[in-house]
Amino acid sequence: TDIENDSNLIHIIHVTAEMAPIAKVGGLGDVVTGLARACLSRGHAVDIMLPFYECIQKQQINDLALITAYVTFYDGNWVPTKAYRGVVSGVPVIFIEPSNEFFKGQYVYGGSYNELEAYLFFSRACLEWMQVTGVQPDIIHVHEWQTGALPLLYWDMYQNLSLKKPRVVFTIHNMEHYGECRKDQLSKCGLDGSIYASVDKILLNRALLLLTSLIGIALNSQGYILCHTNNFPRKAIDDRTIGHNPERLSLLKGGVVYSNAVVTVSPTYLKETLCSGWLASTLLRNREKYFGILNGIDTVIWDPATDVFLPAKFHARKPEGKKICKYYVQRGLGLVLEGTLAGDPVPYITHNVPLIVCITRLVAQKGLHLITQAIKHTAELGGQMIVLGTASDARVQREFEDLANSVIYLRMIERVLPANGIKGLAVGKKKIIVSYLQVANDTKIFSTGAEEKVDNLLIVHNQGSSTRILLMYSEELSHMLYAAADMVLIPSIYEPCGLAQMIGMRYGAVPVVRKTGGLADTVFDMDDSTNHEIANGFVFEGIDEGSLNCALDRAFRHYREKPDEWNSMVQKVMEIDNSWNNTASKYIEIYNSIRVRW
Ligand code: ADP
Repeated sequence: TDIENDSNLIHIIHVTAEMAPIAKVGGLGDVVTGLARACLSRGHAVDIMLPFYECIQKQQINDLALITAYVTFYDGNWVPTKAYRGVVSGVPVIFIEPSNEFFKGQYVYGGSYNELEAYLFFSRACLEWMQVTGVQPDIIHVHEWQTGALPLLYWDMYQNLSLKKPRVVFTIHNMEHYGECRKDQLSKCGLDGSIYASVDKILLNRALLLLTSLIGIALNSQGYILCHTNNFPRKAIDDRTIGHNPERLSLLKGGVVYSNAVVTVSPTYLKETLCSGWLASTLLRNREKYFGILNGIDTVIWDPATDVFLPAKFHARKPEGKKICKYYVQRGLGLVLEGTLAGDPVPYITHNVPLIVCITRLVAQKGLHLITQAIKHTAELGGQMIVLGTASDARVQREFEDLANSVIYLRMIERVLPANGIKGLAVGKKKIIVSYLQVANDTKIFSTGAEEKVDNLLIVHNQGSSTRILLMYSEELSHMLYAAADMVLIPSIYEPCGLAQMIGMRYGAVPVVRKTGGLADTVFDMDDSTNHEIANGFVFEGIDEGSLNCALDRAFRHYREKPDEWNSMVQKVMEIDNSWNNTASKYIEIYNSIRVRW
């Protein structure tokens, strides 16, 4: 990496709710750590400020030490608060630990305290720490709604105190979460919530904008109030004209209006959010400071050539280890079938069976019905699929548990049929599914309705030979699965950036994705002749099952019919550079364009 010359070196403090690996829930944690490390390696100074969640294991932090004991304002009181310093994955981190109940509990999110109020507290506590210690970075980089109030607090409060130097960058990783806030909640962190819910604030902010740009410290935001209509957030509305609902302020919108630069995590998601969605009108009004920068992956953490979680290492020019990883995972999960089944001339060796993985939070955004359809269709195609995911919604959790325990269709249809011409059926616990079934060396043919007769032939998903549904969070397993996979599936309904396709590619898994957001910016269809140079996967557009099936059919056909081409594609995707090398410099350009040179 190119280290910048001294005069260009800047100090960035990230203020964030997540950081990988100690407090990671999704991509946000990866992005903060990856970007911080990329900037550090270029010679910049970077700190991350993070709540000291009770669930963070202290042994994962190096050189942990208390650095500041101070008080910060919250809800009419000054709350004793401690700041600790430590190092995580080579990045200096400042942990904020309040003496109240905030951030206690087993998990990063979902504690028994009020989450919104906890992050309002945290946003102010970080600025208060800078004020108390006199640390003034060039850039305060905030992320998501959780820290969306920080830019407001900065410009409307701490600029009038002693913080003058920092400028604020706000990255939106996912617009679905808008940080809905009542004005009395906003008031708890010391701002006058009612001001932000009034029309006057528009005029005030416009005047401020004019003034600040005249004296050269551009606030660079068009001032609009934070409130939303009763329709919020479902309809895209022009919030200048329709009646406001002062009880539904949005911290995300506040962050957009009050930051010097706003970034979202891919060029396509930027376009999508300008065209539709609840924040479109606000983003359009702030278009000149709104940028789309693709996330990168941390290629040190995600490196199949050195990955400690893998049973065999590999890389693009030495790919053999990948086969071992696949066999290891198949063995470990009981997906190996070897030898010849009677009556069938073709030996059945599972390493030739295409293995597709899907590693994801199980939420609507990720295309749940397409994931379940892929499980079904992969089995129909005689492939194997492994899902690694967690569901925060109990209903989704149950649905996938049921699926894990339900009947599978059968294995290897295309092999059974030409050899034996057998038709059969498999029966679900509740419903009857017509399909084809071969059982050991005997073929049984049943008609629909004969449910009891076939009961003993049930093949349960998690015991059969085609599907594993693993409802858990496991960093270690995720590394092994990416390494084992021939393909990685990301059928998202929308996807701001998506990391799984980039990680998958680095580990030689060819992506099968829906064309949306960052997926559209990183995966280009093999069968589209205009993509010749950049083609690296399989892409579908519709959100219907047919569109997904068609992409899977094409991927499986390529895998089976053109093994040499497939192998070169595996090599090609492993060589694609989706690291922060490319994209960190775009962030640094933005930092430089807004920072104040003293
Ligand atoms: P999002 O941020 O919406 O969750 P991304 O694709 O940006 O989606 O990032 C998801 C990250 O979380 C990836 O690193 C993925 O491997 C990881 N991940 C998701 N679910 C699990 C899981 N159950 N176990 C391990 N890692 C997971």
